[in-house]
Amino acid sequence: MKFHSTRDTERRGFTSAQVIKQGLADDGGLFVPELIPTLEADEIKALSALPYDKLAAKILSLFLTDYSRDELEEDCTIAYGKDKFPEGACKTNKIVEGTYALELWHGPTCAFKDMALALMPRLLSRAIVKTDEKRSALILVATSGDTGKAALEGYKNVERIKIAVFFPEDNVSRIQKLQMLSQEGDNLCVYGVRGNFDDIQTEVKRIFSDVKASESFGESGYFLSSANSINFGRLVPQVVYYFYTYLDLTNKGEIEFGDSLNICVPTGNFGNILAAYIAKLMGLPLGKLICASNKNNVLTDFLSTGIYDKNREFYSTVSPSMDILVSSNLERLLYFTCGPQKTAEYMQALSACGHYRADEAALAAINESFVGYCADDREVLATIKHFFDEYGYLCDTHTAVALSALEHYRNDTGDMTATAVASTASPYKFAKDVYSALSDDDSQDSVSAMYSLSELTHVPIPTPLVGIESRELLFDGVVYPQDIGESVLKFINENQKHIS
Ligand SMILES: *Cc1c(COP(=O)(O)O)cnc(C)c1O
Repeated sequence: MKFHSTRDTERRGFTSAQVIKQGLADDGGLFVPELIPTLEADEIKALSALPYDKLAAKILSLFLTDYSRDELEEDCTIAYGKDKFPEGACKTNKIVEGTYALELWHGPTCAFKDMALALMPRLLSRAIVKTDEKRSALILVATSGDTGKAALEGYKNVERIKIAVFFPEDNVSRIQKLQMLSQEGDNLCVYGVRGNFDDIQTEVKRIFSDVKASESFGESGYFLSSANSINFGRLVPQVVYYFYTYLDLTNKGEIEFGDSLNICVPTGNFGNILAAYIAKLMGLPLGKLICASNKNNVLTDFLSTGIYDKNREFYSTVSPSMDILVSSNLERLLYFTCGPQKTAEYMQALSACGHYRADEAALAAINESFVGYCADDREVLATIKHFFDEYGYLCDTHTAVALSALEHYRNDTGDMTATAVASTASPYKFAKDVYSALSDDDSQDSVSAMYSLSELTHVPIPTPLVGIESRELLFDGVVYPQDIGESVLKFINENQKHIS
């Protein structure tokens, strides 16, 4: 299987190892497989007895054909093992008849990014060898909170990779800060930055395109790489859990094999929901894919009008991982729908004037699978309370966006098809807002709210978060945005942790 860029009309081919190493194509496009492998119904049914890691290796092997099945099985077994996912990699939880939570947060950092970031570092480590690369990889991460911790956990102590994480010193929750600053591992460093997420992101992007910077990293024996969801290596592990959930629901007799299952996903960068679409293209009997947004509803507008317009106000919401105006992975959907020529034109328009309009045929094709709905903070908090009071189901703010959107969709269309709602974070990761939704008390910080929430609901706090406030902090560096490059160089040259 070869891959090419979403913007390349000549469809130049790359191997999966090259794609995982490089992340973004040279023309600014995203890598996509030349075709989506399909499975017959009986082939899918035959997968229903597989444990998660074996299923993952099987699905990955259809895309990553330059990795052997043994390599993939070994990597998936390590990535999804009991030490990282003691309760299993993903759990399907019935909330009420016909509505299921696809819980993706039982990993080391209690957020769904673990599902991909537990595995991707191993794929990258192998890609370095497969492409005969002499240098090691340096993963540079700008994070607004969640990605940083998941990336640190995933990349820690992985061979031939180092990782440096930069977060806004004053703009992450106390839980997020504690999670990152207590990170152990001998190939990583973490810095707070005096600036907001945008300042950090801008500087990190600048470093990626700075020829001089990459020369100095090269001299130290490193090339820069990204842990972002534009990397196909992060996308393909996410296809797996849609298969797992569908089969799990048939195994439990909740649906019949062959029945249609709708999927509802709290969406930011459009990676998670695109993975569901890929599963559907592969032959899994999925119905509508409901794209749920918060008040930053650029995707809701796009899916109803075909106009994507990022020139709009940015809102900070209680579901911060979905506060996003440019959903990068939408580019892959455009490519699957209208090919490289039009995709390149749309992306050109987006970068030149901040908007584009997909033509009618493209929108109609997209709407065969996708619909978009959104919910504001008030609805989200009310939804958290409603689901806890009514069904005893405790969910986080992102999952609540999806549950609200699903209700809008069902009211609008009357489509009551069984639906799996992607649950993307433990409620305890966003304990302050979840607790205030249930109690009207918003005076607590995120750590004390975690304990109050547990007292109130009797839902146990996930092990990785218990006692987080008393963990030893291993990093204390705070820098200005313009010093990020310098700090990274110092880190790789000293080849040791920055310990306070
Ligand atoms: C990243 C994230 C999302 C958004 O996922 P995308 O793949 O970017 O659409 C939703 N919820 C949580 C908790 C996240 O961390």
